[in-house]
Amino acid sequence: MTHTVNDIRAAFLSFFEGRGHEVVPSAPLVPQNDPTLLFVNAGMVPFKNVFTGAEKRPYSRATSSQKCVRAGGKHNDLDNVGYTARHHTFFEMLGNFSFGDYFKEEAIEAAWKLVTAEFGLAPEKLLVTVYHTDDEAADLWKRIAGLPDERIIRIATSDNFWSMGDTGPCGPCSEIFYDHGPHIAGGPPGSPDEDGDRFVEIWNLVFMQFDQQEGGERVALPKPSIDTGAGLERMATVLQGVHSNYETDLFRTLIDASVELTGRGAEGDDAAAHRVIADHLRACSFLIADGVSPSNEGRGYVLRRIARRAMRYANVLGAEEPLMHRLVPTLTAEMGGAFPELVRAQVLIEDTLRVEEERFSDLLTRGLKLLSDETAKLPGGGTLPGEAAFRLYDTYGFPLDLTADALKRQGYGLDAEGFDAAMAEQKTRARAAWAGSGDAGADRAWLEVASEKGTTEFIGYAHERAEGTV
Ligand code: ATP
Ligand code: MG
Ligand code: MG
Ligand code: MG
Repeated sequence: MTHTVNDIRAAFLSFFEGRGHEVVPSAPLVPQNDPTLLFVNAGMVPFKNVFTGAEKRPYSRATSSQKCVRAGGKHNDLDNVGYTARHHTFFEMLGNFSFGDYFKEEAIEAAWKLVTAEFGLAPEKLLVTVYHTDDEAADLWKRIAGLPDERIIRIATSDNFWSMGDTGPCGPCSEIFYDHGPHIAGGPPGSPDEDGDRFVEIWNLVFMQFDQQEGGERVALPKPSIDTGAGLERMATVLQGVHSNYETDLFRTLIDASVELTGRGAEGDDAAAHRVIADHLRACSFLIADGVSPSNEGRGYVLRRIARRAMRYANVLGAEEPLMHRLVPTLTAEMGGAFPELVRAQVLIEDTLRVEEERFSDLLTRGLKLLSDETAKLPGGGTLPGEAAFRLYDTYGFPLDLTADALKRQGYGLDAEGFDAAMAEQKTRARAAWAGSGDAGADRAWLEVASEKGTTEFIGYAHERAEGTV
């Protein structure tokens, strides 16, 4: 088989269909069954109630390629985009699921067969992690895959123990990693430099075998379940023999279009800008197609932050005219076959992005000017005062992550505490009531934002800092 992104998606689904799995279409990005969650961020989310037993389906095994966004709330990879070879804000998670049907042995056997026999990955390039106490999984990897002990790494952290919440289904997980080789920086999982891009996690197998009780006690589930997630873009990267997700067929096409429209090649510093634009184009387009529109709160603000971050990178590339909306047809041509909602919403996506770009263009230019005046006053490696970051946020509509990212690229820091203090002061002045409750889940905090009345063009978002977006 050839290994285009579209081929890999189809091959994955048909492999599991051949093993009795129902092929389930991706659910929309806005969760249908969980109002406290910002976006669907994993393949299992639409099946949550099936796993707990609250909902019954006519099948006990399923497979899907689920649209995911990780750009806010509990999972936030926004700041990684442009910097790592493997993170996106929007990506597809391929998965196979067993609802009390098969368990560990079949899950490991199927995953190993798919990546080696079907997809043809060299077994010696693969290694796995297991939860430190999960001897059963370690033994299965040894027996089924013939992996030597040193390539079955035991991990004691929560990275290898999954739970749905404080109570409910939970269990150990086992992750499959691909080794890109010693020419790439980074250490194996569990080592101090595991965040490098040499060893890349491609597939996570979750073994739901306990039910966590109120008091923390874990009771064995009578019918354990399986939830797995493999990043389609990462799978494409290793199958296409490249190192970065952004070198795969799909991203090359998007980046080529961005190069053509800006007239700036994807070399040197400009490469990251094109990567960010390609990534954010997908996130924005899929969010708009699923009914999110830019706003100053909740999901709409996440969309706006992503769009504005992309616009800053378009500005880095010297684009004087709105750019993002002109890239939409290329995306639709690439992904509209698998996701017809993109085709249906194409005009809406283009119009929404164009209006956002036009609205922000002037503020962006003026805000960037202010930022460079401020950084000119700083010593190399200095820190931007929180007051200035707040002015950019409040008057120029610069989401904090945009400012932090612009500074980071030039080697400057940001005084986040000073930003918070300036924000608090303004709130006192405005005597506004903010409704976000500190102890709610991270996603809930993002969603519970009272509308604050102010005199400025842009009203921001109280919980942004708390979410660690800087
Ligand atoms: P990482 O440790 O690399 O951040 P993760 O452990 O957070 O990944 P999981 O939550 O286990 O990822 O998700 C299952 C799979 O989805 C991962 O094995 C990976 O292939 C893919 N994936 C996760 N986050 C991203 C992302 N931001 N962009 C692209 N693919 C991702
Ligand atoms: Mg992660
Ligand atoms: Mg991980
Ligand atoms: Mg993982």
